[in-house]
Amino acid sequence: MGTVAVQGLCKSFGKVQALDGVTLDVPDGAFFVVLGPSGAGKTTTLRAIAGLDRLDAGTVHLDGRDATTDAPAARDLAMVFQNYALYPRHTVYENIASPLRARRRPSGEISAAVERMSDLLHIGRLLNRRPAQLSGGEMQRVALARALVRSPRAFLMDEPLTNLDLKLRVEMRTELTRIHRSLGATFVYVTNDQVEALSMADQVAVLKEGKVQQVGTPTEVYERPANQWVAGFVGSPPISLLPCHAEGDRLVGAAGWTLPRPRWAAAQDGRPLLLGLRAEDLSVERRASATLPGELYGLEPLGDRTVVDVRVGAQILKVKSRPTITGTPGEQVLVAVDLDRAHLFDAGTGLSLS
Ligand code: ATP
Repeated sequence: MGTVAVQGLCKSFGKVQALDGVTLDVPDGAFFVVLGPSGAGKTTTLRAIAGLDRLDAGTVHLDGRDATTDAPAARDLAMVFQNYALYPRHTVYENIASPLRARRRPSGEISAAVERMSDLLHIGRLLNRRPAQLSGGEMQRVALARALVRSPRAFLMDEPLTNLDLKLRVEMRTELTRIHRSLGATFVYVTNDQVEALSMADQVAVLKEGKVQQVGTPTEVYERPANQWVAGFVGSPPISLLPCHAEGDRLVGAAGWTLPRPRWAAAQDGRPLLLGLRAEDLSVERRASATLPGELYGLEPLGDRTVVDVRVGAQILKVKSRPTITGTPGEQVLVAVDLDRAHLFDAGTGLSLS
């Protein structure tokens, strides 16, 4: 079991109210993301769950039991931070094994656990190296393996991918969702990066100024934002918000335009409104001039779109698609290509020929 429930968390630092009545229910085995801008209270929420700060008000329940006054060590939670140092003189193997050694686990169990983690994180070939002989991304993987080698009640992760370059971050997003699925453990993951939140979470809680704005699946938060602030915060490029009002069967824009009034627009005539339009709901032109046959390899839901990986020969093509697209790995698919927009490069020199 690994449920985490917080109720009415309040915490002030002097005049700053970091948490103002935060209530969250994290189901067992969830990948639960707390998303919000800098200063929203995300880290303070995690620290409250871990028992690292005294709360002004509120309760923390772990697996249904009131743990509000439990010492951090008694909560059986693992916290993963942005910066986690490895032991420089130990090998990768010893680094990963150290949390289990500290708990005096039998050596057979330790080697099996290290092997499983190094397989999951693809670092098996690094086990005999020392941290100084690793790249930044490899170090981060080793640090994650060390955190994940234990089986605590839940993992609390505070922006663990922030220090990676974009390419590695994208890779690690996929790795983390895969690891989460394979461990079946509860993750509470804090980030200010909406792409991270939407692509990895089962459930997202959107936090602003210490208050929860909305909790829902990535699709719910994106498709049915609870308020204008959530609509503006989630989605890239940001949603356009056009001032307007209803007038009979029309919506009339402050800029002078009119549109047929949608049936669901139940607002009173004359009341000031904002019409929210997302980029993908507006289109200028759409056409395709050729297709490539391939095999569906994977889906990466990103909220406003799903990136579909399609294997064409030995290559993986990334294809931007509708968020509602579904498919099964192995399925035969066609990729439409707009050749007018394609590029050509010299394979020897790498220079563009188009
Ligand atoms: P970030 O994404 O920048 O890490 P966050 O959402 O995690 O932000 P918190 O670190 O939880 O935000 O901070 C919430 C608010 O509480 C901020 O205004 C912050 O300045 C304040 N705060 C947090 N910790 C302390 C502290 N120890 N002393 C004083 N103020 C604090």
